[in-house]
Amino acid sequence: AVDVLPLAQAGGGAPSRFLLLFRDRTAERRIERMRTDFVANASHELRTPLSSLIGFIETLQGPARDDQAARERFLAIMREQAARMSRLIDDLLSLSQIEMKRPPAPGHTVDLVELLEDVRHLLEPVLEDSGVTAELEVEPGDYVVQGEHDELVQVFSNLIENACKYGASGERVLLSLAFEPGEPRTIRATVRDFGPGIAAEHVPRLTERFYRVNVESSRAKRGTGLGLSIVRNILLRHSARLVIWSEPGMGSAFSVLFPIRKK
Ligand code: ADP
Repeated sequence: AVDVLPLAQAGGGAPSRFLLLFRDRTAERRIERMRTDFVANASHELRTPLSSLIGFIETLQGPARDDQAARERFLAIMREQAARMSRLIDDLLSLSQIEMKRPPAPGHTVDLVELLEDVRHLLEPVLEDSGVTAELEVEPGDYVVQGEHDELVQVFSNLIENACKYGASGERVLLSLAFEPGEPRTIRATVRDFGPGIAAEHVPRLTERFYRVNVESSRAKRGTGLGLSIVRNILLRHSARLVIWSEPGMGSAFSVLFPIRKK
């Protein structure tokens, strides 16, 4: 498609020059489609716990009005559904905030060894709950990158939480830092679990919004399907890449490849 826009002329009068704009309508349509899909998905995800809440409220007002045991049970479920909506809204807000920011991320100096230790400390309750020990293995070297500390905390928190949720329950999770072999200007930070792994056909789609290998298992584990798309968007701002390795039965490794900027 071609749009022709007249260029305004100094002093008014009919424009004598024209600017030809070649717009890629297919790309526009794809973006529009993604936007509507996103709104539809988000509404659906919010509607599910909301419908369940309304159902339980009606039951409590009617048939279960005088049943003390049922009341307790229903209230516990309602609380979990409300918490689920709250997690979804938090993740939707994080995602939209990060998408609104333009790259690049501010160039603060971030030491990845300190950062991984901070995240491990922050996640102690989660690790304890799932009985997971997180080991940190660092090959000799300086692992300093440029970026936004809090955003990178979010990246590694999401990856480690996923390793606990889907990967290793009662096992270990290995965090490692190394320089990429043959690429001394690239740092590889990996979160490795020894869980069931992910079938190959799912791997390329994991960072799509709301994509889950198993929706029920993700819900049961308090997932929203947004964690890895938040990770992806933060990494885009850092010119970093996410590389996923997974082998059914062997576990998964989510590696972030950071470029080291020239001084
Ligand atoms: P969720 O909120 O469901 O955890 P994510 O975007 O963080 O969403 O992850 C998307 C899906 O990828 C999860 O639902 C899960 O099926 C799969 N997944 C993520 N990390 C792992 C892992 N370490 N091992 C196995 N599956 C994983």
